[in-house]
Amino acid sequence: MKYHIWTVGCQMNVADSRKLAAGLDRAGCVATDAPEDADLVVLNTCSVREHAEDRAIGQLGRLKKLRARGKDVRIAVMGCMVGPRDEDLRRRFPYVDAFARPQDFAPIMEVAGIDDTGGEFWPATFGEPDAPTAFVPVIHGCDKFCTYCIVPYRRGREKSRTIDDIRREVEHDCARGAREVTLLGQTVEAYGHDLPPGTWVGSGWREDGGGRPPDLADLMRAIHDVPGLERIRFLTSYPKDMTARIIDAVAELPKVCEHFNIPVQAGDDGVLARMRRGYTLAEYLEKFELVKARVPNAAMVTDVIVGFCGETDAEFRHTYELLERLRFDKVHVAAYSPRPGTIAHRTLPDDVPAEVKQERLQAIERLEARISFEINQRFLDSEQDVLVEHRREGRWSGRNRAGKLVHFEGDAEAGAIVRVRIDRATAWSLQGTALPAPVPA
Ligand code: SF4
Repeated sequence: MKYHIWTVGCQMNVADSRKLAAGLDRAGCVATDAPEDADLVVLNTCSVREHAEDRAIGQLGRLKKLRARGKDVRIAVMGCMVGPRDEDLRRRFPYVDAFARPQDFAPIMEVAGIDDTGGEFWPATFGEPDAPTAFVPVIHGCDKFCTYCIVPYRRGREKSRTIDDIRREVEHDCARGAREVTLLGQTVEAYGHDLPPGTWVGSGWREDGGGRPPDLADLMRAIHDVPGLERIRFLTSYPKDMTARIIDAVAELPKVCEHFNIPVQAGDDGVLARMRRGYTLAEYLEKFELVKARVPNAAMVTDVIVGFCGETDAEFRHTYELLERLRFDKVHVAAYSPRPGTIAHRTLPDDVPAEVKQERLQAIERLEARISFEINQRFLDSEQDVLVEHRREGRWSGRNRAGKLVHFEGDAEAGAIVRVRIDRATAWSLQGTALPAPVPA
């Protein structure tokens, strides 16, 4: 059977798609890039933004036509569009054969006619040797219930995987050629709070009922010596769960990259309260300063929503001024769109006009382009260690430790760490030339 998986949304979705692909490969199925050649098409969807849902609905329309033209294709929808009650989806899209909630692969395996009993651990990189970078979910779900967000309703409550389970997956990924792992969670610093207590024994964590539950710092220490592993990253941070222990682990562990993605969402306490983010601006700034003090060269990334319910000009200006002051390396900005099923959709009017949202979005994008450009100029004439990911249109691409995209010419291969001299920097990337590898002494 040939299958095609279409994926939108966050890295957690990308990881889920790879895991599903691994399970299908193991059952003897073959991946295809062309949905029209596939016997099974899976749409892995996202509900965080309306735009992502619209794209999935567009894909469903194309698949419906494909089927109407006589193509025998089974269609499955998985991911955050599928809630605990899917009757509405079944009514709207009666031609879909299976609906599967995030990480619940059973309905898809069933529609593919695959007996999936016992498939509890699917290394994501089963099958062909994979990319030099691997994404490993370490905690699923979210307990925070920010008023605008659908994730807790679709991905359920926070549930951590054990350190042993994660280490096995990282060892497997690295044995298949991965050099970098990104530990994933919607609130990745919440990792471990729901696991049984334990203690460090020698160089590993033991679940022995004593001490305290493990945290992200323990997890990073526990995978640090995996053979072949060169870099560790983690995504996405939740400011309140970020602790000094975790920040210290980033500072101390050589393989953990100095790169933090800490969403602020708004620079105004009134908006933060309506979003129920669970922190004030002062508390956010405290964490930001702690990171800067302990990891001075850290690259900082954040997420912002503009045009949230009731956002006034003054409130927006506070967000703008905050970004101007903190000078993030990168800002992911989105205009608010109400998501049915969320607290904001039920209780707060979506009263910022669409054109005002667009103006605010563009103002942040312009500010961000200027600041990123200025920050990136600092890399000019520097030498950067780049983990090479791929070659396209005659040049190599990869990332430095700060997570900056680097394009370069010269000798390299995917998976190698190459020293690159930077001779051009834009707001979006660095460009340069590979330096010859040093001759071993
Ligand atoms: S922390 Fe808030 S925004 Fe992030 S996934 Fe949880 S509910 Fe959504």
